[in-house]
Amino acid sequence: MIKDSKQHILKGRRLYIPRMSTEAASALAAAFRSVGVDACISPESDARTLDLASRFTNGEECLPQRVTLGNFLKIVQGLNFDPRSTAFFLPTSSGPCRFGQYRNLLRKVLDEAGAQEARIFSPTSSNGYAGIADRRFRFLVTVWRALILSDSLRKARLMIRPYEAEKGLTDSLHNRFLGKACRVLGDPDIGFRRQRRECVKILQSAAEAFESIPLKEKLGSRPLIGVVGEIYLRFNEFSNQHMLRSIENQGGEVWIANIAEWAWYTNYEEERKLREAAGIVTFEMARVRLRRYIQETEEKALTRPLRKFFRSRPETPVPRLLEYSRPYLPAHKALGEMTLNAGNAVAFYHAGCDGVVDISPFTCMNGIVSEVVYPRISRDHEQFPIRIFYFDGVPFDLTGHLEIFMEQAGSYRRRRLEKSRRGSRSGQ
Ligand code: SF4
Repeated sequence: MIKDSKQHILKGRRLYIPRMSTEAASALAAAFRSVGVDACISPESDARTLDLASRFTNGEECLPQRVTLGNFLKIVQGLNFDPRSTAFFLPTSSGPCRFGQYRNLLRKVLDEAGAQEARIFSPTSSNGYAGIADRRFRFLVTVWRALILSDSLRKARLMIRPYEAEKGLTDSLHNRFLGKACRVLGDPDIGFRRQRRECVKILQSAAEAFESIPLKEKLGSRPLIGVVGEIYLRFNEFSNQHMLRSIENQGGEVWIANIAEWAWYTNYEEERKLREAAGIVTFEMARVRLRRYIQETEEKALTRPLRKFFRSRPETPVPRLLEYSRPYLPAHKALGEMTLNAGNAVAFYHAGCDGVVDISPFTCMNGIVSEVVYPRISRDHEQFPIRIFYFDGVPFDLTGHLEIFMEQAGSYRRRRLEKSRRGSRSGQ
């Protein structure tokens, strides 16, 4: 149980987790339950979400902020809402990104709505979110396991779903294994070591189940589209107008930059700043390195059953992404998602993708800067197709725009395969 300074915030309250990605939010809620917090995910987004948010916003807020706020307002307007037994999970950060303002706006709106007694639980990103639950080891490791599990299940789902012979089978298997994982992660009576063993078993069974799904097409035979962009929109299907499914419906396969990448990046940045500030190994630096060591060990152990399954989809480590990004957006000057977007675009090119889609909220600085460098990245990499899509909550004809992009990706793929055939013939 959480028995530290955070206890007074969460004790006797239900904690609502924003549904950025349903699978990650479900697993995170389970991690909270594993330490005795009554946590669940916030409602699905729909038109009412934006309608509610619009009553308290003026249009300058980014779409993720409006969607998060609108879904929390659904809870506030629910029949059984009691502010004294409610808390909202809302991480925050410093810097120019509007993410740092989410909490302030939510507080203001809750107060205006008469919910002054509802709490907001906000760890900060400046220390890699290490403030959650005052460094309770079990909680933090369970959160990490939750993230790795949900990322892995999503990745497996996206690799198989476009090729499944029976529509819906991949999603239903994904949801079944996610449910099993959440039950294990959220059970406070399952010991720490057993939790890991059970998680590994779940991923082992998931790998076997995914591999046995009957296919209508050969795996990997479709144009492979890397997906980058703003982290909330990338994963929130309502906000991105179901972009991933649309790519699949238009004959593609999706490979999306995962959520854990952001955690690796914040670790990397934290280490770099500590190194630059101190110049020597400090206690703080040792703590950060120990955390990285634990995360790497956990990730290796959990994903071992999927190693063969994922061999054609290796993740690019963050230092390599930043190297790739350097000619376009120097990592130590242009921070955050824009650097990762540029690095990932190059990484997806090297990994054999046929194009990259960037999903970005309208007016978000990250997307605007990334868009400026994409033409150069494309030119430097054999006219690799890269296209940014902006979303502001007003639906538009995504299918039409995507059709044009998929045409480009298809013709790039034909050129790429022809080149590799010629290369292998001349090498014979
Ligand atoms: S990255 Fe952009 S869209 Fe995301 S929270 Fe920050 S300002 Fe908003």
